[in-house]
Amino acid sequence: MEFLQAADRAALHVSVSQIKGFQSCPRRYQLRHVLGAKPEHRSANLVLGTAVHTALAGFYQALKGGVVPADEELFEAARLSLVEAAKQDPPILLEDGETLADLLATAEALVRTFLAGVERPDEVLAVEVPFFMDIIEPDSGVILEEQLTGYIDAVVRFGDDLVVLEHKTAARAWSQDQLDFDLQVALYQAATDAARVRLQVVCKTRVPKLMLHDLVRSQQEQREAVVIVCRVLDAIRAGAFWPAPGWACKTCEYRKQCRG
Ligand code: SF4
Repeated sequence: MEFLQAADRAALHVSVSQIKGFQSCPRRYQLRHVLGAKPEHRSANLVLGTAVHTALAGFYQALKGGVVPADEELFEAARLSLVEAAKQDPPILLEDGETLADLLATAEALVRTFLAGVERPDEVLAVEVPFFMDIIEPDSGVILEEQLTGYIDAVVRFGDDLVVLEHKTAARAWSQDQLDFDLQVALYQAATDAARVRLQVVCKTRVPKLMLHDLVRSQQEQREAVVIVCRVLDAIRAGAFWPAPGWACKTCEYRKQCRG
């Protein structure tokens, strides 16, 4: 798995989630990554997503070791993640009337839904694995100072296909536009040369559901994704950080500072 090795050179690093974060709101990127502002709270969705991720990582880690994981162990992993998160600062922003017990119950329901619907791979090659990728400006061929980094949830084989698995916890099923244009999919495929990226979206709907999406990006789409990364880095270097008000402001962890 050559792509899983760290590239052998010193470099500044920018993660795929930082690039996506800039795309969603440059001002929030500035507060978080440039100014190092202290967040006012943590989003309940974020800590819930981390808890589910922890359980799913345990699932694939056990499979990698040739063990069939016990459901209860995975529920417990999610529970512990949430309990630990609740002890830390800043506080978790709960919705009106929501409690930590509600989050715990939701986490277990989501992990249960995943276990009921997931397709087990033929082989698990790696779990929670970092990658580092040189960013080559497509037009000039210049290798940028920054390297792109990320954490791949799991790399598996289905038959002969090398497949990257990416886990998402979402309020609802992803729209077709999200599936068609999500930057992460193209970049992960570019970084790994995988046959496809499988998004495993656990939806926090009234009746939770698991949506599996096998996504393949063409060479052209991968190239376009790298161009977006280059232009985002241009904007960051130029100090171009504008607020992008929208639905995310409601739970934004820098809301007061954004306005201040
Ligand atoms: S409050 Fe809204 S505009 Fe301001 S940083 Fe947060 S998401 Fe961006």
